[in-house]
Amino acid sequence: MHGARIIEGDYNLAEEAHRPVQAVSCLPPGKQAALCFSIDDIHPGKSTDAYEAGGDLGDGALGQLEWLLARHPKLRVTLFVTADWREISPRPTRKLLASIPYVRDRVYLAKRLPKGTMRLDRHPGFVRYLKSLDRAEIGLHGLYHCQKGPRIPVEFQTGSYAETRVALERMMGVFRQAGLDLVRGLCPPGWNAPPALMAALADLGIKFIASARDGITPVSPGAKTCNSGMRGVSLVYPEMVHGGALVHLPANSQANCPIDRARAILDCGGLLSIKAHIVKTAFGHTSCDGLDDTYIHYLDVLLTKLDELYGDAVWWTSMSEIADHLHARHKLLPDLCTASGPS
Ligand SMILES: [Zn+2]
Repeated sequence: MHGARIIEGDYNLAEEAHRPVQAVSCLPPGKQAALCFSIDDIHPGKSTDAYEAGGDLGDGALGQLEWLLARHPKLRVTLFVTADWREISPRPTRKLLASIPYVRDRVYLAKRLPKGTMRLDRHPGFVRYLKSLDRAEIGLHGLYHCQKGPRIPVEFQTGSYAETRVALERMMGVFRQAGLDLVRGLCPPGWNAPPALMAALADLGIKFIASARDGITPVSPGAKTCNSGMRGVSLVYPEMVHGGALVHLPANSQANCPIDRARAILDCGGLLSIKAHIVKTAFGHTSCDGLDDTYIHYLDVLLTKLDELYGDAVWWTSMSEIADHLHARHKLLPDLCTASGPS
């Protein structure tokens, strides 16, 4: 493995307003690479609802997670939770409306749950269960997880700064009301992170964003994301974005990625960031990284193998810990771009 890397570059974020950013990967002493795990779409939906999303607690997908955490004592997880999940189908079901240009972008193209149905403060047993999970931290994953137009889950797409900020404040208010402690990070529903979202997040004191999923682009120290969400950020290293206000953490490994990809990321001294979704199948749409029995056992094999190969050289960490570490480092050494090697 190579040592830790600190690199800089001016990257074009193809779908975003361009701004200079720094890509950094600072590791604690003795560590040569890092590993984190995150799960999206968690909300109180039960198997008696449209789909199970954690609401069956230990008897559902989160029980699978508990099993994995027990098998791997170093493993930590970031659970990206939605404040008041309203999405039913991730794809348009109102086909006629969806076929009419202009109109289709201004209406909801599938039924939604009534407001409040899945609001966290109305599900105290679910909140208690999340709080009881060992080595799990709670991050933000939208207010409703749906919007008008064909890209239903992409909640933050066209809103102004003011609209986006109001939605974020409502979202955080629900967590406060539910008594569920948060880390200051967001994985935007549908991955999209427009400039209005980035600005509102930074102004509200959010410290990290996870907006790029790419399990396809070949791994190399200079590889950039070009799949879901933010494009042109580092595929293998955390990166300061939005003028250093936010840390960006890529998702670069999922169920359909071979173990060799994970090894290549670690061999670059990078962050292996494993992604899962809590829902496997919703209205005929199947997530390849849905946390079912097959994926959980694949993760068990993957993590066992990596621990055998790398041992304590890998920093098994969480998204918030990485973000805190990088912000502290960035504050201490704003000219990181000139530094090199492990801290
Ligand atoms: Zn989602």
